[in-house]
Amino acid sequence: MKRMRIGVEKVNWFSTYRVHHRVAGHFRSGRAFLLGDAAHIHSPVGGQGMNTGIGDAVNLAWKLAAVLRGRANPSLIETYEPERIAFARRLVETTDRAFTQVTSSRPTARFVRQRLAPLLAPLFFSFQSARSLIFRTVSQTSIEYRRSSLSRGMAGAVRGGDRLPWVKMESNRDNFAPLQSLDWQVHAYGEAKPEMQALCSERKLPLHVFPYSAATRRAGLRRNAAYLLRPDGYVGLAEPDGVAGNIASYLDSLGLSPLRASTSGW
Ligand SMILES: Cc1cc2nc3c(=O)[nH]c(=O)nc-3n(C[C@H](O)[C@H](O)[C@H](O)COP(=O)(O)OP(=O)(O)OC[C@H]3O[C@@H](n4cnc5c(N)ncnc54)[C@H](O)[C@@H]3O)c2cc1C
Repeated sequence: MKRMRIGVEKVNWFSTYRVHHRVAGHFRSGRAFLLGDAAHIHSPVGGQGMNTGIGDAVNLAWKLAAVLRGRANPSLIETYEPERIAFARRLVETTDRAFTQVTSSRPTARFVRQRLAPLLAPLFFSFQSARSLIFRTVSQTSIEYRRSSLSRGMAGAVRGGDRLPWVKMESNRDNFAPLQSLDWQVHAYGEAKPEMQALCSERKLPLHVFPYSAATRRAGLRRNAAYLLRPDGYVGLAEPDGVAGNIASYLDSLGLSPLRASTSGW
């Protein structure tokens, strides 16, 4: 407190609790699913617990809803555990390490904490790349599911399993607006082939065509490629040449039938 120049005059309430660092062996057993702190528990260092639990809930919710409504094969639900458990394991391991460092009474740990960190932290945060790295990590926007069985293809720098890169369009619009439908959809940046338009119309799959620009190029999106997006905004299939047949095969392999029908242009 002295070093931080904080004076505590009165404590109104405090509690002690035991910090656990554990991940459940499985996130699913038959009809029972584990998510949130019940699936992975760790110290509050980094403030990631609630965010991770919400990520689990989003991942599981759209899959359960699709299967219960008969819009996807039941095997879709099997992708919940592999997609979420890998991140939970990584998170628990890193917060465990950080917590050990933050609470250790070893002289070197105390030296790092009390002398080195206060000196180096401002320097570290003065770099834009460092701030950007911290932002991506803490916001969890760098989570990807590239190894998931739901993730296929690569177009530009974007692969199946990546979070769709956010791109600001003209007139204050952005490519995330259509994601509010929380449904499967296709994004094309540049042009969509007539066969793609026909497929989307036939399958009642919303197709959103955005102009190709310097911003979309910087985001790693490929001109005239087609990105089949999951209801959670992750890329299911990145189809570099916008071939409609490959989108159809992907949908068929999962037994997917989207709900709504709409086509929009920009
Ligand atoms: C000090 C501290 C600071 C934190 N700071 C952050 C932060 O900055 N950012 C962040 O993202 N996360 C933070 N977290 C973590 C976050 O609070 C948790 O990850 C999150 O609340 C977990 O939500 P949950 O719904 O999975 O579990 P919980 O919030 O634990 O909810 C489980 C609920 O189930 C109820 N319950 C238990 N057993 C039963 C039963 N048998 N029947 C019926 N109900 C039952 C419980 O009463 C509870 O209401 C922090 C945690 C702590 C302790």
